[in-house]
Amino acid sequence: MIRSKIIILLGFGSILVLVTMLIIVGVTNLNKSKLRLDKVVNQNNLKLQLVNQMRSAARERTISLQQMLIVDGEVGFENARTRMALYGGQFALSRSKFMVLELSPKEKEMMSNQAQLTKDVGPVQNEIADLVDFGEYKHALQLLVTKAIPLQDKVFGIFLQLQEIQRLETKKAIMENSENYKQIVGVMWIVSAVVIVICISIVFFTLRLIAKNERQQEAYRSDIERQAFYDHLTGLPNRRLLNDRIKHAIEKTERNEKLLAILFIDCDRFKPINDTLGHIVGDGLLVSIANRLKESVRSSDTVCRVSGDEFGIVLEDVDHISVVDRIAQNIIDSISAPHFIDGHKVFSTVSIGITIFPIDYNDVGGLLTSADIAMYHVKKNGGNHYEYYSTEMNLHSTQRLQLELDLHEALTKKQFEIFYQPLNAIDAERNVIGVEALLRWNHPRIGMIPPVDFIGIAEDTGLIVSIGEWVLMEACKQTKEWESQGLGEIAISVNLSPRQFMDSNLISFVENALNVSGLNPDQLDLEITESTAMQSIGKSIEILHKLKKLGVHISIDDFGTGYSSLSYLQQMPIDNLKIDRSFIKNLHHSAKDKAFVQAIVSMAHTLGMKTIAEGVELEEQFLFLKDIDCTVAQGFLFSKPVPPNQIKSLL
Ligand code: C2E
Ligand code: MG
Ligand code: MG
Repeated sequence: MIRSKIIILLGFGSILVLVTMLIIVGVTNLNKSKLRLDKVVNQNNLKLQLVNQMRSAARERTISLQQMLIVDGEVGFENARTRMALYGGQFALSRSKFMVLELSPKEKEMMSNQAQLTKDVGPVQNEIADLVDFGEYKHALQLLVTKAIPLQDKVFGIFLQLQEIQRLETKKAIMENSENYKQIVGVMWIVSAVVIVICISIVFFTLRLIAKNERQQEAYRSDIERQAFYDHLTGLPNRRLLNDRIKHAIEKTERNEKLLAILFIDCDRFKPINDTLGHIVGDGLLVSIANRLKESVRSSDTVCRVSGDEFGIVLEDVDHISVVDRIAQNIIDSISAPHFIDGHKVFSTVSIGITIFPIDYNDVGGLLTSADIAMYHVKKNGGNHYEYYSTEMNLHSTQRLQLELDLHEALTKKQFEIFYQPLNAIDAERNVIGVEALLRWNHPRIGMIPPVDFIGIAEDTGLIVSIGEWVLMEACKQTKEWESQGLGEIAISVNLSPRQFMDSNLISFVENALNVSGLNPDQLDLEITESTAMQSIGKSIEILHKLKKLGVHISIDDFGTGYSSLSYLQQMPIDNLKIDRSFIKNLHHSAKDKAFVQAIVSMAHTLGMKTIAEGVELEEQFLFLKDIDCTVAQGFLFSKPVPPNQIKSLL
């Protein structure tokens, strides 16, 4: 805009300067030309006037001479002679006036001829006058006719020529003036043409600039619109646009009496992938998922990125639910095929919650919430699956909401209890070498709630930090209590959730629990899951080293279910690997699980870590673990988690 303003200003400025210069030059030239013309015309008029005066004086003098010949008497003669002298004087006066004027060489030449002739005629006229005076009329007449009049005629001829010259000069001056005028007008035309060209150029450039400006503004507008309604990573519509599309789809579906399906899709375990392989791979995976989702639906259907790793799909004009089943299954199959991103082969699965209009809800909010609830349900059941929304699910989610409210008061109302489950050495004696603290919630209405039903809520709400702090303190104090009861120095394992592990006060909590309880740090074992350790590898290593400095032990819980690899764990100061229950469950009859557990145990030993098998229920399982040199076993084979007062008998 500033550029176009400058161009317009410069353009009109230069036009102003040009026009002003043109007027000044033109007017000055016209003035000069007019002055010159005036001068020439005035001078020539004066000359003409003087020549006329000379002519009439000469004529009058000749007439006076003729009168002398025809008048009678002394008085008449004297009168004529006086007039002759008078006109002679007049002639001389006019001539002298003429001669002081600016004369051309031609005029000068003619005036010198005239002078010669006048010089010749003067004495003749005087002689005629003398002859008349002496009464010699005849001789005088003869002299007049033969000499004076012809000479006088020659003088008149010169005067006529002079007058002709002056007329021509005047004409020439007028012509020159008009020529000058034409030139000035010509220049004016040229300048006007230049001005017009400049004006047209200004208009042209200004219009072009305005058009460019408008295009830019349009581009900005559509850019802003894109940012407001589209996700910049995947190029898909965002949540705002999703709401809008659902609204329109509802109206359309009401008219055509078909079905409308909303699919809420969440990537399973996206966070560990993002944390382990980095954001470039994480972003690449989201783009790849977005593309596969688009490929799985018709072009008329809408695929949106709702947030982070959540997507939404609006399926319109659905004739039958089986169509939705087919599309959902297609999506699950398509996403679970490997993704090749930045040189990595990445595997991902999705959880899909589906809601149907007009069966489940009639409004955008209801449809989105119900699809989300269904998706959450799938997630809870392990993911990589799709489910339709049902009212029972909603009941579940309201229950969850109620639990969340109750959980806020559970700690202050002392509703938590800690159960302990022994860890037994895998050897002949099978001695209890430690216990794991496992939290229980003694809900006043529901009864005893297992941790799987509330740890997630506590984690989401952040309550886990204060709950965890309490568990740690209680467990340390309890262990010290058993010690004081003479039960020996047993180890105590305490679970840390991801949020607790990343909490900035973790180190001081642990230090405080050790100080307050007086427990030997060597007796405390902190358990974190693989995914907790892999959340942010650099940060995890730093925290683990700080914990190790306090003298406590570190175990990786539920090993084998997460996304980690031993090469990452190798960089961390880890003491124990707790092999997840799912690998122990079928250990007695699954060759695959046997091979897997054996590999973990031997690799862990190579890395200097002890192995603890979780969920050991059967003697065969125990014996196999003993065969492969697994260090510790935990499971119902020895004891379920029990209240603290029952531990004494187990020890
Ligand atoms: P975990 O740390 O892996 O604990 C072991 C779980 O396996 C316990 O479930 C225990 O009861 C169960 N278990 C042990 N042996 C057997 C067996 O032989 N068969 C079967 N079927 N199960 C067995 P629990 O007590 O329900 O705890 C579940 C999870 O909740 C724990 O898994 C842990 O991740 C979490 N958790 C428990 N207490 C706390 C806590 O204080 N803080 C945090 N952050 N998480 C906790
Ligand atoms: Mg544990
Ligand atoms: Mg475990």
